[in-house]
Amino acid sequence: MQRLSVLFAVLIACGNGAASHSEGNAPRACPAGTLGTSRVLEIGAQGGLEVGFKTYPRSLPLGDHEVVLTFDDGPDAATTPAVLDALAAQCVKATFFLIGRNAQANPRIARRELAEGHTIGHHSFSHPAITLRRLSTAAAEADIDKGMKADDLAAYGRAGPEPRVPFFRYPGFADTPEVNRWLAARNIAIFGADLWASDWQDMTPQVELALIMARLERTKGGIVLLHDSRGQTAAMLPAFLAALKAQGFKIVHIVPGPGNADTRPAPTGWTSETERIITEVFQREDGKARRPGPTNRDLRGGT
Ligand SMILES: [Zn+2]
Repeated sequence: MQRLSVLFAVLIACGNGAASHSEGNAPRACPAGTLGTSRVLEIGAQGGLEVGFKTYPRSLPLGDHEVVLTFDDGPDAATTPAVLDALAAQCVKATFFLIGRNAQANPRIARRELAEGHTIGHHSFSHPAITLRRLSTAAAEADIDKGMKADDLAAYGRAGPEPRVPFFRYPGFADTPEVNRWLAARNIAIFGADLWASDWQDMTPQVELALIMARLERTKGGIVLLHDSRGQTAAMLPAFLAALKAQGFKIVHIVPGPGNADTRPAPTGWTSETERIITEVFQREDGKARRPGPTNRDLRGGT
């Protein structure tokens, strides 16, 4: 009897959520005790947009303790389903930046991401180890375009001339002024990140959780970069979502919108962290290329 009344209460809560959803952008009510999604933020990219403090001197206008969850490099048949299960269990909506060739290989997972209300952004077709920066501008643009079409074909069953969701993240954050201008002319937003879990490095889920929570404590929220292609991240996710709830963080779900999104400027003294990393990686790779030896470690494990 008690269980029946609990079920009834949940049904009533869901009904209220559905009503408020039709009135605006309030997300659907979530079962009691879940982290949930606190609000939906529409991102307009008319004339272009570049956000994420790791790379750009501006980011999304998030409030204190607000978090946008983003996942790169999927869909991956071995790990993405567990990531989706963890998000669903906590009623959390995220954004996936898909690699086109992975979407082509795993269209059912791309369709599941869409069906479960997540946002599908783009992360190039081939995720070249040398990054798009070391391709010609024409080749980089062709790879991005092919990726967006492969993602949309996998998720929606068809691809038009422009992506359904104009959100893009560069592999390795390695942008170029020319390709940035091309994306801006197509009204496509470029996403960096405000913080990450460094999950391209091998570590236990426990260590990864401690690392990302310590970083979130410092930044008080922001755009978080994770990789749904990493088993350690999939394994960490249930505890991570529980920790976010316990420490009062709120999930913001980003979706495309009209106009041009507001941004928040970086604090005084900002510098690009990713530019320094890209320079170091290129120097290391160039050194290895001059000294034949062990296999070059590519950037695929990076971002
Ligand atoms: Zn990546």
